[in-house]
Amino acid sequence: MELRNKHITVAGLGTTGQALAQFLHRRGAHVTVTDSAPEAELGAAPANLRELGVRLELGGHGEGVFESADMIVLSPGVPHTIEPVERARKFGVRVIGEIELAGRFISAPVVAVTGTNGKSTVTRLIGQMLDASGLTVFVGGNLGTPLISHADGNRQADVVVAEISSFQLDTVETFRPKVAVLLNITADHLDRYPSLNAYGAAKARLFENQTGTDTAVINAADSLIMELARDIRARKCLFNTNADADCCARLDENGINASPSGSGPVRIFYEDIPMVGRHNYENVAAALLAAIAAGADPDGVGTGIRGFRPDPHRLEWVAQIRGVNYYDDSKATNVDAVCRAIEAVGRQVVLILGGRDKGGGYGGLADSIRRHVKAMVLLGEAADAIERELGGMVQTRRAGSMAEAVSLAAGLADAGDTVLLSPACSSFDMYESYAGRGKDFQRTVHTLENRKNG
Ligand code: ADP
Repeated sequence: MELRNKHITVAGLGTTGQALAQFLHRRGAHVTVTDSAPEAELGAAPANLRELGVRLELGGHGEGVFESADMIVLSPGVPHTIEPVERARKFGVRVIGEIELAGRFISAPVVAVTGTNGKSTVTRLIGQMLDASGLTVFVGGNLGTPLISHADGNRQADVVVAEISSFQLDTVETFRPKVAVLLNITADHLDRYPSLNAYGAAKARLFENQTGTDTAVINAADSLIMELARDIRARKCLFNTNADADCCARLDENGINASPSGSGPVRIFYEDIPMVGRHNYENVAAALLAAIAAGADPDGVGTGIRGFRPDPHRLEWVAQIRGVNYYDDSKATNVDAVCRAIEAVGRQVVLILGGRDKGGGYGGLADSIRRHVKAMVLLGEAADAIERELGGMVQTRRAGSMAEAVSLAAGLADAGDTVLLSPACSSFDMYESYAGRGKDFQRTVHTLENRKNG
């Protein structure tokens, strides 16, 4: 792709936007970066880019900033459907995402991971398995370092493992992962997609440019995925299956039984997996099929799993106070993640949930609540909507702050119970990110712990 002397507009000035602008500038493009946020909210990035000679249009998208470009490159968080981008496209301006651009400049095989939940966990797991197999790996994309930064570097890895969001897949043209992983599709981001099928179809574009020499790792228990992947060209490897076919991974009573192509059978016991919950066993099964397809060996897979340290705020145990266990699952911003967390902790649960609504409804929680939840504490903007749908099921209280939520939950829990923060909503009504919400929860729980023990 020739970039020299092209007028290119980058939409979004986060970490990826900045990396995109630097990449394009180095390749001789005339770069403009635009963001709806004002300069004061964008940290040091504007000053850094201005120094390079990059043009900035901040606090909104100025007249012509998209229409006059030869090409628009979107940061991962910017939907291609925003009005000024749509208008520019109608004028004939080409619109691509960061992943498409980076894919054209990366020569190493790419393992791409998408799905509603588990992307970060699986991306990192695959990275660890490949690393433990002696390969040089770059792990990034939506998590950590943007893919475009790797494309810009002078040292290419043996394998690139990338977490990919559905927004990035919306603007794919030629992106072709050697191994594509589609973990699950459940209701999320329905404030940005017209339907679950549209959201799923965006995710399935991961397979679009694959051929018979590539691999698709897919969830056999997810009927929408099986339907969307019916006619793909890549070789299918199934996890979460009962079949005993070539390249698949079954979850039985004690562990994962996998028969990946190109290696002997692989057996992983659940007790060797440093994470709780069946969803994490599914994640490990998907990761091992993908890692082996990308060159890992069975020993490296085992070492990678045993040494894995999960990221914080994903069903993270925080403390036990007076026989009650406290878990921080702040990263659970949709209904399915919450159901999986409730099922994983199993016992009588006091559930803290709420935040900013994402449009998918909360009815999907009903079965798990009926089985395991004894009380709910509702927080944030979505409290009314949650109470309307689920309020009659169990004792339900409202809290105005995290401190109040934890204190109410502690009062509702008896020894042997679990207090679980698993919000089913984004955090942006009260916090900058899910991590800020999780840290606030953990701080509050530790304060309670010190008071009870003091
Ligand atoms: P993502 O990067 O897709 O957001 P994470 O690995 O960060 O995924 O996990 C996000 C949330 O989803 C956490 O609450 C986690 O416990 C939950 N989760 C992880 N894997 C799965 C899965 N396979 N199915 C459902 N929920 C999951």
